[in-house]
Amino acid sequence: MAAPAQNLKINGERLWDSLMEMAKIGPGIAGGNNRQTLTDEDGEGRALFQSWCEAAGLSMGLDEIGNMFAYREGTDPHALPVYMGSHLDTQPTGGKYDGVLGVLGGLEAIRTMNDLGVKTKHPIVLVNWTNEEGTRFAPAMLASGVFAGKHGLDWAYDRVDAEGKRFGDELERIGWKGDEKVGDRKMHAMFELHIEQGPILEAEEKDIGVVTHGQGLRWIECTVTGKESHTGSTPMHMRKNAGRGMALVTELVHEIAMKNQPNAVGAIGHVDVYPNSRNIIPGKVVFTVDMRTHLLDKLNAMVAELMERAPKLCADIGVEFSAEIVGQFDPPAFDEACVTAVRGAAERLGYSHMDIVSGAGHDACWINDVAPTAMIMCPCVDGLSHNEAEEISPEWAAAGADVLMHAVLETAEIVE
Ligand SMILES: [Zn+2]
Repeated sequence: MAAPAQNLKINGERLWDSLMEMAKIGPGIAGGNNRQTLTDEDGEGRALFQSWCEAAGLSMGLDEIGNMFAYREGTDPHALPVYMGSHLDTQPTGGKYDGVLGVLGGLEAIRTMNDLGVKTKHPIVLVNWTNEEGTRFAPAMLASGVFAGKHGLDWAYDRVDAEGKRFGDELERIGWKGDEKVGDRKMHAMFELHIEQGPILEAEEKDIGVVTHGQGLRWIECTVTGKESHTGSTPMHMRKNAGRGMALVTELVHEIAMKNQPNAVGAIGHVDVYPNSRNIIPGKVVFTVDMRTHLLDKLNAMVAELMERAPKLCADIGVEFSAEIVGQFDPPAFDEACVTAVRGAAERLGYSHMDIVSGAGHDACWINDVAPTAMIMCPCVDGLSHNEAEEISPEWAAAGADVLMHAVLETAEIVE
């Protein structure tokens, strides 16, 4: 398979102009965007994207959940297409690049191929996945999840927003419900360019993150049971303090994450204390442990260690510990050939790069289950995302789109 020439680069200025043009639709209140899924603004953004695709000679496919597929012909019509893309919807107080860079970076790659008359054996499809963010209609990555067979289509249609509006009704209302069956498409491969949404690449001064894995996660709901009693009149040695049990488990979670580096994380973000009164020793504390890492065996071992040690720690101070797993997502390992194509592209183009694990969920994590998939990340300032102040540099955007184009061209096989 011939690799694209190293001087083949996208037009960074044109990419930046498109990003700024899209950001005018659904402006936020602090310089970012509010273009939540299935709003009028989402519809407007889609229409702009479609007009750009048509101007680039692409034909648009639309499935029953509103996923948009812009098609560029290959020389072999029987070859499976190579996909690239991300999402155009944003958080209510979102940035201009989360998701958008992956879609418009792909568009810029196609515009460059057109400019230079580059032909590929495999067709290339640029995709905009519906409702990646999941703020208005939970869960996140809804439409790519239906595409990958994780959720039923009717179940997705029945999701409701805070005002009680149905996903299916809103999709029809904005006019972006297609006829194509969701998930019918077969892919040769899929590439998603995305901003890191974390601080690692900027801190390490790397242009490109070669994403090898996504984080897997376990949510473990824990209950520590002691005995409610007066905080003033109960002697210390006679207390059954469920709050203290939770404190010990909090430290244990931290310790387990620290000894499973790199990439392992753990924290307790949700706590309910009973009866939650200033002068009552808590009789019960319910809290949720969030543990994540990128290797399944390690993730399971972390949970097993928590389940083994927490009951003993609690028993030693006279309280009882019980727990159950209430949420789980196994870590995706991206396709080796696709990851190698991304790394090779960064290398060939002379961009500094490092292997990285995606801390956040992405459409690519679901698609990885039905097609060979990989992700490319570019840095973002201070690791800030899901925030209107989210910022990247035009150079970072261009480098990411260059790597995306090269990985896609190599996989789609350039025809000389
Ligand atoms: Zn995103």
